Amino acid sequence: MHKFDYIIVGSGLAGLYAAYKASFKGNVAVITKSHIRESNSFNAQGGIAVVTAGDDDPQIHKSDTLIAGRGLCEEEAVDILVNDGPDRIAEIIASGMKFDTEGGALALGLEGGHHKRRILHAGGDSTGKWITEFVISKVNQRDNIEIFENTTLLDLLIKEGVCYGVRCWSENSKLQASDSVANNGSEVLLYANHVFITSGGTSAIYARTTNPETTVGDGLAIAYNAGCRIVDMEFIQFHPSALYQKDSPKAILISEAVRGEGAHLLDKRGKRFMVPIHELAELAPRDIVARSIFKQMIKDDVQHVTLSLRHLNREKILKRFPGIYAKCQEYGHDLTQEIPVAPAAHYTVGGIASNHNGRTDIERLYVCGEIAATGIMGANRLASNSLIECLVFANRAVEDSVTVGKIDNIPTFDKMFCREEANREAYAELKSEVSNIMNRYAGIIRSEEGLTEGLKRINTLRLGLEADAATRENGQREFFEEASRRLLTVATLIMTPALMRKESRGGHYREDYACADENYAVHSVQQRGKEFTTAEVNGDCFDF
Ligand SMILES: Cc1cc2nc3c(=O)[nH]c(=O)nc-3n(C[C@H](O)[C@H](O)[C@H](O)COP(=O)(O)OP(=O)(O)OC[C@H]3O[C@@H](n4cnc5c(N)ncnc54)[C@H](O)[C@@H]3O)c2cc1C
Repeated sequence: MHKFDYIIVGSGLAGLYAAYKASFKGNVAVITKSHIRESNSFNAQGGIAVVTAGDDDPQIHKSDTLIAGRGLCEEEAVDILVNDGPDRIAEIIASGMKFDTEGGALALGLEGGHHKRRILHAGGDSTGKWITEFVISKVNQRDNIEIFENTTLLDLLIKEGVCYGVRCWSENSKLQASDSVANNGSEVLLYANHVFITSGGTSAIYARTTNPETTVGDGLAIAYNAGCRIVDMEFIQFHPSALYQKDSPKAILISEAVRGEGAHLLDKRGKRFMVPIHELAELAPRDIVARSIFKQMIKDDVQHVTLSLRHLNREKILKRFPGIYAKCQEYGHDLTQEIPVAPAAHYTVGGIASNHNGRTDIERLYVCGEIAATGIMGANRLASNSLIECLVFANRAVEDSVTVGKIDNIPTFDKMFCREEANREAYAELKSEVSNIMNRYAGIIRSEEGLTEGLKRINTLRLGLEADAATRENGQREFFEEASRRLLTVATLIMTPALMRKESRGGHYREDYACADENYAVHSVQQRGKEFTTAEVNGDCFDF
């Protein structure tokens, strides 16, 4: 039996930092779907929002977060984020993390929705890579952490409301007999005292996204099926500025920090269209900028708008954004001049309901990072608040786990997956259909008619999938079929509350209900086997 004190699912910042912290409490297994550096965290560019300057204050950071969250933030959670954040940053700096400096002090960037320069960055525009590499180096120093790459969470091992471990599919030779590895892996059961899901968001379920392909919401679907409450999934953040390339879904992120340094958004006549729309112009909150770009594209009948940096200091741009400059160059564009940009699905605001310590509806199951919904982000995430969320809440979850203690008796679970020839092609086909449905019907601008049609199409795909599955004789589950099922669950979990929320707020915009409606200033809540419901803000939705 493979038994650990901690199993951490995912190797983004939340997972790696939780693993490092947990290694001081017991032994740790990290399972990750692809390789250790495949994550949103590794790709993060702009930086980490945290108060470090004398003229800044956690209360101002809180106020900016609440404004971006459009009335749906849980204030206690935001207080924890802005007050614990500086401690976590001080801690990692003390243990060797190097952020960029200017004149001997931390260099502070500005991003949309922030009223102070407070964004720490590293390696210019490679903050995610630097901080992830830093935490990986710490993880590598601990001899009680085992990393299992190419190992995908399939399910949780749950009995009577308690989580005892994970069911996964592994192509990793450390977990497998060599014949299994050669045959695309097989099912493995891992047991633990505490299971952490840190598997990131769902944005790669959309056709145009800034996320890597692993980020399709596996953890969300699995937790939902296990009985966890899922909150606020209608709020998807579309990043305003991702590089546009004709006929390519790949959307390279052009960090908000580029606009923070003064870049202008221009329509097809070369006019700054954000100026009359919002007092912060290009630095208005993300949903407003993304929607304005989208509407401008429709108005001008074009596939992108222009981000112009011509008027800025070339040397400063090259120094601050070396990674983005290089990426743009790779695709034939000069960042110091003008580049074509269009919005792309970027961040999942909602997720698995969890309390301030990462606890969920299931005992011994913790969640943190983008997959967790603590209510910090409200209806929309303030830029650069997510990496700091990973550090703050992973740390708290590990501390909390100690109070829960170890399991005395672990029940046994049977294997359930067959090793049929994997049907990769059917999965790829279904993934493409789902992604197009999501972009078309649950994208930046939504409507009752569109969402109803989108849900209908998802249901048709589900019926087809289950009809195929029913033809299998032994009733066992198959890897790619299960992955397809998860995609359909995630799509439904996004579209159902989007249809129910007859208003526009934050990352959810309905053209048929274009204004916010105070009757909808509530969280959406979905739980398997129960009616869709809502919960009061600052009520008891996040108490466990
Ligand atoms: C291009 C880009 C730039 C960004 N820039 C910033 C920024 O500057 N500042 C900021 O605060 N935020 C930024 N964000 C958002 C931020 O990066 C993420 O919200 C954050 O990194 C999420 O961290 P995480 O650890 O929760 O998840 P992730 O970093 O996404 O990691 C999830 C991990 O889980 C693994 N996984 C998924 N499914 C499974 C499964 N079934 N089994 C096993 N493993 C699984 C994945 O492979 C991955 O390793 C950016 C996001 C993107 C895409």
